[in-house]
Amino acid sequence: MLVAGTSLQISPVRFHAAFSHSGAIRDLVWAHTGVLMTQFQYVGACNALHSVDARLARWLLHIHDRIHGDTLPVTQEELSILLGVRRTTVTQVVHKLRMSRAIRSNRRGLIEIDRPRLEAAACDCYKAMCRRIDRIVSPPERRPHSHAAPGAQIPRE
Ligand SMILES: [Zn+2]
Repeated sequence: MLVAGTSLQISPVRFHAAFSHSGAIRDLVWAHTGVLMTQFQYVGACNALHSVDARLARWLLHIHDRIHGDTLPVTQEELSILLGVRRTTVTQVVHKLRMSRAIRSNRRGLIEIDRPRLEAAACDCYKAMCRRIDRIVSPPERRPHSHAAPGAQIPRE
C-alpha cells in the first residue's frame, strides 16, 4: 500500500468459499482482475513510451483518485520508488510541476495538486486507462438506461 487507510482481511479458505458461492463476489473479483491487468498494460506501455514528467503527473492523478482532498500523502522518496528513478530526478520533475503550478509541496514534503493543471501535464495514458477501467467496472449492459443488448461487445479504443 502506498497510502495509509483501512483494509479488511479474510482467510483464503473463507474467501474461496465465498467466491464459490456468490456470483456477485465472482463478478467483483473478475472485474478487479481486469482492472489490474489493464493497469499493468497501460503502466508498462507508459513506462516505455512517456517522459518521467508525464508519468509522475499520471501517478499523482491516480493517487488523487484514491484519497479525499488535494494533498497527497506521498513523499518524493516514495515517488522515486514508484517511478523507478532516482530521488534527484523526482526532485527535478517536482520542481518543473511546481513551476507550472500543477503542484505545491508543503512543509512536511507532501504534495498538493491543482488537478486541471496536473491533468494537462500528464500523458494521455491516464484518461485512456480511466476510460478502459470504467468499461470494466461499469460495462454498458450494467448501466442504468442502457440499450445495449446483453452480451454486447465492449467497444475497443
Ligand atoms: Zn503515459
